[in-house]
Amino acid sequence: MRIVFMGPPGAGKGTQAKIICDRYGIPQVSTGEILRAAVKNGTDMGKKAKEYMDAGKLVPDSVVIGIVKDRIREPDAQKGYILDGFPRTLEQADALKAMLAEIKTPLQIALNLDVRDDLLIARLLDRAKKEGRPDDTEPVIKSRLDTYHSQTRPLIDYYRKEGVLVEVPGEGTLEEVTSRILSPLEKIK
Ligand code: ADP
Repeated sequence: MRIVFMGPPGAGKGTQAKIICDRYGIPQVSTGEILRAAVKNGTDMGKKAKEYMDAGKLVPDSVVIGIVKDRIREPDAQKGYILDGFPRTLEQADALKAMLAEIKTPLQIALNLDVRDDLLIARLLDRAKKEGRPDDTEPVIKSRLDTYHSQTRPLIDYYRKEGVLVEVPGEGTLEEVTSRILSPLEKIK
């Protein structure tokens, strides 16, 4: 099962991706988490990524494309994966398409989890109180949402044209959203 999870920051992608991955026994490949770990460990990549992340901007395509390329070649990803937070630009989407074509394992579903902006801001500010993620402050949240609208939202059309788009409303309880996600996935299993 090879899936991309898209959606604005705060839509619940990460939470839902984890639930689905546990259920199917496949890895959750979250570029945000890999980058946060790199920042925490002070690696060269982390040092490069930090300034973009702190500003709510996208880390350069070449960096994240490299991360994903390496990660999906690992043994545990051979039975499938969920890409959580990648691709986020058209260039990343094209790079993903090329890397998957090379290993003859095309993407099966690009799932877009959609939530209205006003609800997203409230959710992210609430998460900030609980988890204290450094990029969950109001100005950075606004910047992340702007980045999402200008750079990532166009991927919805991209994947619609590719014929793999599935749209899921991200509003409602956690369980409601999980069951909405599971029904299209059951068909490709
Ligand atoms: P969220 O979806 O809540 O914004 P993520 O954990 O997915 O959180 O990402 C956090 C930050 O990591 C982003 O704001 C961005 O700076 C960086 N990042 C994550 N994935 C990518 C990506 N695919 N391309 C560029 N930057 C990324």
